[in-house]
Amino acid sequence: MSLNSTWGVRRRFEQGKVTINEKKFLGYDKDSEGNLIINETQAVIVRRIYKDFLDEKGTAHITRELEQEKVKNWNGTTKWYESTIKSILQNEKYKGDAILQKTYTVDFLTKERVKNTGKVPKYYVEESHPAIIAPETWQAVQLEMERRKKFCMEHGIKNLDTRIPFGGKVICGICGSVYSRKTWMQPDGTKRKVWMCSNRYKEKGVKGCESKHVNEEVLQKAFVAAFNELVTNKQYFLEKWKGELEDSNALKQYRLNEFIGILEQEEKQEQFNESLCLRILEQIELFDNKGTMHITLLDGMSMKCENNN
Ligand SMILES: [Zn+2]
Repeated sequence: MSLNSTWGVRRRFEQGKVTINEKKFLGYDKDSEGNLIINETQAVIVRRIYKDFLDEKGTAHITRELEQEKVKNWNGTTKWYESTIKSILQNEKYKGDAILQKTYTVDFLTKERVKNTGKVPKYYVEESHPAIIAPETWQAVQLEMERRKKFCMEHGIKNLDTRIPFGGKVICGICGSVYSRKTWMQPDGTKRKVWMCSNRYKEKGVKGCESKHVNEEVLQKAFVAAFNELVTNKQYFLEKWKGELEDSNALKQYRLNEFIGILEQEEKQEQFNESLCLRILEQIELFDNKGTMHITLLDGMSMKCENNN
């Protein structure tokens, strides 16, 4: 009886029918015949998570915002986990595809299921059900995930915390570590935010890196100057980006379209704009103690800034 069951299940998969527990799956319901149909209310949340991620928010950042806004999860609660966000961002079902038999039942009495490591066939089915996320957007997210992983590895950090502006984006040109933010109390009782190479005082009392701290205000001004440089040369950049669109991968295309949209809309900035900075800044690398820095934007452009203060 057990053998028959296995066969029956696999046959159903070969016909391309997806069996998921849609109650635990954000974005989909099942119709009376067992086909996956989009749950529009939940799909809005799925699309938002993909967009937030591509707009450079980290998974911890996205998790916190969903909770703050009391957005409901698949089970109706407003509790979100970073691991849930990560699995939503990586699940191929959202682009309408399905890998069938990722797990299979080993014991029909206890209904125990294990991960399929090749014991029974796996099937990749394209367009098996309606997509919530366009395939190119899904692909861009996977590429962005790889980019961040590589970035973190290169700079010795676990993950990018985007919850504060410049988080994980200020790099020490001397030792390659990331800078972290500290709050300094000033003699008059006011606080100021400074950024410092995380290698500098790794061991207490021992100076690990020769770099100097930098005031957050200096980083803000540098970003504003870099952005205004784009606006000043608007026509040049718009043409350049439009010309690059065709030969770019899904992630680069997403970025270029973002940059084009932003530049078509925005004027020169006087004040630092935090959300704009999050969306377009890749990194600021600080080179020496005179305040020379290289600003790299996510379209790939890099420019040198000098601190004249
Ligand atoms: Zn350093």
